[in-house]
Amino acid sequence: MQLVDLRSDTVTRPTPAMRTAMAEADVGDDVFGEDPTVNRLEAMAAERFGHEAALLVSSGTQGNLLALLTHCGRGDEYICGQQAHNYRTEGGGAAVLGGIQPQPIKVEADGTLELAQVEADIKPHDFHYARTRLLSLENTISGKVLPLDYMRAARDLCDRHGLALHLDGARVCNAAVALGVEPAEIASLFDSVSICLSKGLGCPAGTLLVGSRDFVAEARRWRKVVGGGMRQVGFIAAAGIHALDHHIDRMETDHANARRLADGLARIEGIDVDHNSVQTNMVFVNVAPDQVEDFAAQCERHRVLVRTRNPNRLVTHLDIDADGIDHAIEVMSSYFDA
Ligand SMILES: *Cc1c(COP(=O)(O)O)cnc(C)c1O
Repeated sequence: MQLVDLRSDTVTRPTPAMRTAMAEADVGDDVFGEDPTVNRLEAMAAERFGHEAALLVSSGTQGNLLALLTHCGRGDEYICGQQAHNYRTEGGGAAVLGGIQPQPIKVEADGTLELAQVEADIKPHDFHYARTRLLSLENTISGKVLPLDYMRAARDLCDRHGLALHLDGARVCNAAVALGVEPAEIASLFDSVSICLSKGLGCPAGTLLVGSRDFVAEARRWRKVVGGGMRQVGFIAAAGIHALDHHIDRMETDHANARRLADGLARIEGIDVDHNSVQTNMVFVNVAPDQVEDFAAQCERHRVLVRTRNPNRLVTHLDIDADGIDHAIEVMSSYFDA
């Protein structure tokens, strides 16, 4: 049995076709702007995501950081969710490196931030306060999809208050596939979007940051400042081009596999499935706290990898097919039958 690694969609290995594209990439010095494959990917990404320009960066964390450094200056503030990746799990980079203050607010059960609350947290123009510059949303957030109407309302709010709007779109392609729209329909509502190539899109590394020409020029400067300028990085860009061409529409398979997993696990006494969470490639489950470690160990003995935490996030991706899902269900079922 092949390994069924449900811990994250970051664990995928490049497919044989992707490796071929990488091996054959034409490369140059990207800091000089001379890597033809990077230039091709950036042009393609701008088009695909409905913006003037794009920048290839090393990671999603770096993409969000560059966006915050570009939109905000020292003493400015961005509003985001309490559980937002760019607040909780990026080491406080915007504050550490940019002197930018986060204003986190509660994330509702559907993944949205209540817009009335966002509005209430915009600071008055008065020297007692940080200057609120930006609203940052995340889509998908914990596997949940923000509705188009909601994102449009957020755009309106930002226009009314003169705020920029950023999307942490690490998994925005999953959101687009779930909504049945082109990624540009979502991305064009924002001033900037970061899109991970290294998650559901199946690349070994890389994130795209898209926005206006001016925004990307400034982000490119910040990328150099934080040490993110890379040289013959066309090898990574080639994987990105392959992924944008071949790995977006197929995410429907990952979403179907997540539903298959949720349906299978729902029949197991001992596993509590959060059905509301199953909108894209994630399934959140709970097992009894005193069984979490043992459960994960038993899964691993049968070549199924899960994290040892509650709620436990199970993630489907390119390297897991329907047989793998059925195997995982069987292994988890047998743990509670024993
Ligand atoms: C993974 C992730 C990031 C960061 O990406 P890295 O490439 O791991 O730095 C940012 N935002 C969200 C929502 C993510 O899931």
